[in-house]
Amino acid sequence: MQSARTLARARGSISRAMSTSPSGLVPRLEQLLGRDAVLTQGDSMDKYCRDWLGQYGERALAVVRPNSTEQVAAVVRACSELKVPLVPQGGNTGLVGGSVPRSGEVLLSLERMHSVRFFDQDSNVLVAEAGCRLQETDEWLRREHSRCIPLDLAAKGSCTLGGNVSTAAGGVHVVRWGGLHSSVLGVEAVLADGTVVDGIRTARKSNTGYHWSHLFVGAEGTLGIVTAVALAVPPAPRNRAVAMVGCADWEGVRRLVHRALGPDGLAETISALEYLDAGSVDMAVTWGGARDPLDERYPYTVLLEAASADLSSCSQRLEHVVQSAIVAEEAVTGVIASSTQQERELWAVRESVTLALTKRGAGVKLDVSVPLSRMAGPEGAVVAARRHLANELPPGWLSNATSADFESLCGAGWNGGVDEGGVCVVGYGHVGDGNLHLNASIPSLRKARGMPEGREDALFAGAVAWTPPQLADAHSRVGAALLPWVPQWITEHGGRGASVSAEHGVGVSKLSYAGLSRGEGEELLMRRLKAALDPLNLLNPGRVMTSDH
Ligand SMILES: Cc1cc2nc3c(=O)[nH]c(=O)nc-3n(C[C@H](O)[C@H](O)[C@H](O)COP(=O)(O)OP(=O)(O)OC[C@H]3O[C@@H](n4cnc5c(N)ncnc54)[C@H](O)[C@@H]3O)c2cc1C
Repeated sequence: MQSARTLARARGSISRAMSTSPSGLVPRLEQLLGRDAVLTQGDSMDKYCRDWLGQYGERALAVVRPNSTEQVAAVVRACSELKVPLVPQGGNTGLVGGSVPRSGEVLLSLERMHSVRFFDQDSNVLVAEAGCRLQETDEWLRREHSRCIPLDLAAKGSCTLGGNVSTAAGGVHVVRWGGLHSSVLGVEAVLADGTVVDGIRTARKSNTGYHWSHLFVGAEGTLGIVTAVALAVPPAPRNRAVAMVGCADWEGVRRLVHRALGPDGLAETISALEYLDAGSVDMAVTWGGARDPLDERYPYTVLLEAASADLSSCSQRLEHVVQSAIVAEEAVTGVIASSTQQERELWAVRESVTLALTKRGAGVKLDVSVPLSRMAGPEGAVVAARRHLANELPPGWLSNATSADFESLCGAGWNGGVDEGGVCVVGYGHVGDGNLHLNASIPSLRKARGMPEGREDALFAGAVAWTPPQLADAHSRVGAALLPWVPQWITEHGGRGASVSAEHGVGVSKLSYAGLSRGEGEELLMRRLKAALDPLNLLNPGRVMTSDH
C-alpha cells in the first residue's frame, strides 16, 4: 500500500483556522515532554491534521508525541486542568474524520509508543503499545513466534493497534477469527482526568467484574486513550490458497457464500470471502493499477481465501468449493492462484479499490451491515441507491443512466465503465460478514490528470465533466441525495441484520445518521457512560455522539 502519510501530505496543506492557546499550555507540554515532542508550526503539523481522505481536519493547538504511558497521563492532566480538548491519533488512516483535530484541540499522537512489551508463549498473548503498526507487528510475530495478529486490512502498513482497537477494526479475516472483541483480552488506558487504568491480562479467563476493557473497543477515543493492548494471537497459518470467481447474478453469489461457509465448504480453513461488483473491478483496474485475472468482466467477482497449517487441506478444499460452485452454476468461471505472486495479484484487485476511488475524484462513502439478500442484486442496497440517484440527479449525471439497458444492467450489478464521465455507484466488501462498502464516485478534472496516458478523454466522453467548483456542487448534491436516504433504506430493509456503520466507526462523517442503528435506551446508556468517564467532554468531543445534550 502506498503510504497513507504520503497521500495525506500530497492533498495539500490544512486549513489555517486560528485558535487561541490557553496561556501556558504549550510551554507546559514542552516542559513535560521535551521540546521535540511538541509541534506547533504549520508544516510539521500538516500530516497529523488532515485525514486520509483529505476531507477533514483543522489546525491543532499543538501536536504532542508522548513516548510513555506516564507522559500520556501528564498531557491529559495538563489539558484537563485547562479544559482543552484532546484528539488521540494512531496511524491516521481512519475513514470517518475522527482522528484529526478541530481548531483549538490538542492532537495526541501515539506514534512514539511503538514497542512490543512482551509475548507470552504459554498463553499466546501479545502485549504491545498502542502506536505499534499492524503490519510491522504482525510480521515480527510471524517471524519470531509463528503467531499472527488476527486482523488484516488494506491500511495495515500505516494503521496502529491502538487505532484498530479504538475503531473495533474489522477487515478481511472477521469471517475466520471474529471481530477484535474476540481477541482483546485487556487494555491499558488513560482516562480523561489522567488516571491510568491497567487492564492488561494474559489470562484467557477473568471474571472479576465488569469487562470494562471492551468499552474502549470501538470508543474512537471518546472514553480514554488506549496506551497498550493485550491480544490473543493464534498460530499463523503456514499455507494459503486464493481463488477468484466470476458470477452472473447475485443469487449465484449468495449460494456460493452459503457453500463456502457451510460444513462441506471451506469450514475451519476459511480465511476471507470478499466481493466486488463490476464497477469496483473497473475502478481497481482503471484507477488502482490492478489487473483483472478473469477472462471477462462479470457482474460480480468473489475472492475466496483458505488458510491452514497444512497446504493440502486448504488448497483441496478451495478447489472443491470453486469446482462445485461452477457445476452448480453459482459461478461462471474461476481462477486459483498457483504462486505467491498470483495470490498478490488477486488480492490487489480487492485491496486497491479504496485508493482507486480517491484517485478518481470525490466520493460519498458508506460502510454498512446488511443481510445478504439486501446487499446487492435486484433487491439490494447498491441497485436501490443507483435508482434513487437516477431519480434525484439531473439527466445524464449518472454513468450509464441514459442507457436503455440501465434497469437490467444495474439489476445485474453492472455499473458501466468507471472511465466514463458521471457519477457511478459501486459496491464491494466483506460478503462473508454481510459488510457492504457502498460508494458514489464523482470524477474530478484535477484527478483526471493522473489517468493512464490516453485515457483522460475517455473519462469525460460521458455526459458530464466537472470543473473544481462544479465538482464541489456535484459532491454536495450527491451527498444530499444519498444521506440519510441510504442509511434509512438499510435500517428499513435490513431489520436486526442491519447497521448503518459496519466497521469504520462514526467519527464525524456519520454523526447525523448513526442514531438510526441505536435505540433510545442505547443512546441514553452511551451518554451516561460518556458523562461518567469524561464529565468535561474533553476526549474527542463531538465524535461518535453529538455534544449538544
Ligand atoms: C485503504 C484503507 C482500507 C481500510 N480498510 C479497512 C477495513 O477493511 N476494515 C476496517 O475496519 N477499517 C478499514 N480502514 C479504516 C482504518 O484503517 C481503520 O479504522 C484503522 O483501525 C484505524 O487505525 P489508525 O491507527 O489509523 O487510527 P486513526 O485513524 O489514527 O484513528 C481512528 C480513531 O481512533 C481513535 N484513536 C486512535 N488511536 C487511539 C488510541 N490509542 N486511543 C484512543 N483512541 C484512539 C482516533 O481518535 C480516531 O477516532 C481502511 C482505511 C484505509 C485508508
